[in-house]
Amino acid sequence: MTQQIQWFPGHMAKTIREIGEQMKLVDFSLEIVDARAPQTTQNPQIMEMIAVKPVFLVLNKIDLADPRQVTKFINKNKDKFSGILTTDAKMGVLSKDFLRQLKNNSFFADLSKNNTAANLKALVVGTPNVGKSTFINHLAGKNIARTANKPGVTHFLYWIRTRYNLVFLDTPGLLWPKFEDQEIATKIGILGGIKDNLLASDDLALWLISFLQKNYPTAIATRYKISHFPLDNPIAALMSITSQLGLRQDFESASQRLINDFRSGKFGLISLDFYGDDYLDN
Ligand code: GDP
Repeated sequence: MTQQIQWFPGHMAKTIREIGEQMKLVDFSLEIVDARAPQTTQNPQIMEMIAVKPVFLVLNKIDLADPRQVTKFINKNKDKFSGILTTDAKMGVLSKDFLRQLKNNSFFADLSKNNTAANLKALVVGTPNVGKSTFINHLAGKNIARTANKPGVTHFLYWIRTRYNLVFLDTPGLLWPKFEDQEIATKIGILGGIKDNLLASDDLALWLISFLQKNYPTAIATRYKISHFPLDNPIAALMSITSQLGLRQDFESASQRLINDFRSGKFGLISLDFYGDDYLDN
């Protein structure tokens, strides 16, 4: 499910207020992010509010991310969270693996000890398209995490019982109203978090081409079997790809194809939050 972006402030202000009000009812929070851009897909407006309780960052879509960049991100950020977990929400193994990671975490062990109620309650937040619904549905064992994202509903937060002793408070996929820089909007757009018709696909494609040529220089040439590929000119590169795909002058369709190929992992394991390609961790 690709979510519709709900960008009107009334909705957002109300949801953020509701989250603040509900924090006293939950034991901890799970912020789901896209493992390919775990920094960029964190919502800067939510952290302050949810940090009153332990926060676990969940790097979802780990199956698509560059493992070296994931390790670098975790090493840089591990002190900022109660735990950083990784998931592939599309896989059936998620539930067991996720619970194992959570239970191995000392914060979780303490929470379980001090919690006299049968269930632990977790707030679940995430920007659109990071895989939050897929993640919740897996743990709930049914297709349930969907309602919260419908426009026009009056209540934005929903309690969802999982198959385990965990209850989730689901929130709509939220974007913040102002991105600090265009690159953040571009990355979130490429990852599918912003409705496709709000951003020009050729702008996204040109950015993606430059990024891949710089950081994963063989990815595009390998995917599209282009031998003489213009390395330093993204427009010329887009023209080559368009022609190689047999799309004549249809740069729009070629751009869309490139973005979809990236989204579904056709270029291999790629991270958009890139911390350098050296083997050191910092
Ligand atoms: P939400 O907007 O955060 O609720 O995202 P969805 O759960 O609707 O997922 C968005 C898209 O990502 C869907 O096409 C899912 O099938 C896909 N998806 C979710 N989790 C994963 C994952 O861990 N790996 C991969 N490869 N795809 C995923």
